[in-house]
Amino acid sequence: MIEFEGIVIRTTPFREHDLVVNVLSNDKMRSFLARGALKMDSKNASSVNNYAHSRFAITKGKDGFSLRSGELLDSYEHIKEDLSRLAVLDFIGEITNKLVQSDDAPYLYGYLEKSLQLLNSGFDPYTVAIVYFAKVLNVAGYGLEVDSCVFCGQKSQIVAINYMDGGFICENCFDSLNHAKSSPRKLKILRYIFKVDKERFGQVSFEKEECLELLNELASFCHEVTQVEIKSLSLIRKA
Ligand SMILES: [Zn+2]
Repeated sequence: MIEFEGIVIRTTPFREHDLVVNVLSNDKMRSFLARGALKMDSKNASSVNNYAHSRFAITKGKDGFSLRSGELLDSYEHIKEDLSRLAVLDFIGEITNKLVQSDDAPYLYGYLEKSLQLLNSGFDPYTVAIVYFAKVLNVAGYGLEVDSCVFCGQKSQIVAINYMDGGFICENCFDSLNHAKSSPRKLKILRYIFKVDKERFGQVSFEKEECLELLNELASFCHEVTQVEIKSLSLIRKA
């Protein structure tokens, strides 16, 4: 028997009443079969809903792992009260499923949990979306250099961001043919989202328009380097 705590990031119906459940926990990604989870009287059903934070006990059989018991710790019920929070939840689920590998779990789990807590408590959802996206890019190997110029390493006189070059660009290395200058505010937000730790995440929020601009830019960059298209972004724009 293996016991662990985690957050359900995907569920797939299987046979008539079963569910294949994918969970991000603080050490890895796990997948197991929840037999009978789709039956009305299933005692484990609430623990295997999407985005449920639960404690699970699973056992290994000849067909892989199966759920023995699941105890719901938090269902983040308040997220459902607001369309923009729901849209961001959808976005978080999509990028986690498409971009995160099992090895990334130790770094990412805390940010996923904090993101859901912040969304549930009514914190600005757009800020949650850009911070979590930056953390996913960090772990996927596409984090940006936001401490110094990517070309010369200089820490001062930063004037632009170029995603494909990998980060910040200073005044001396700035090339007006290839780069566009960014406002100091935008550079500050970029630095914040790639650097903020779990403890300070949730202390500062940004304007919706600022977040949407960054979400769009990060999504195009992500598409460029990974070929992954993030479909839920259109829901956030509408929400
Ligand atoms: Zn430079």
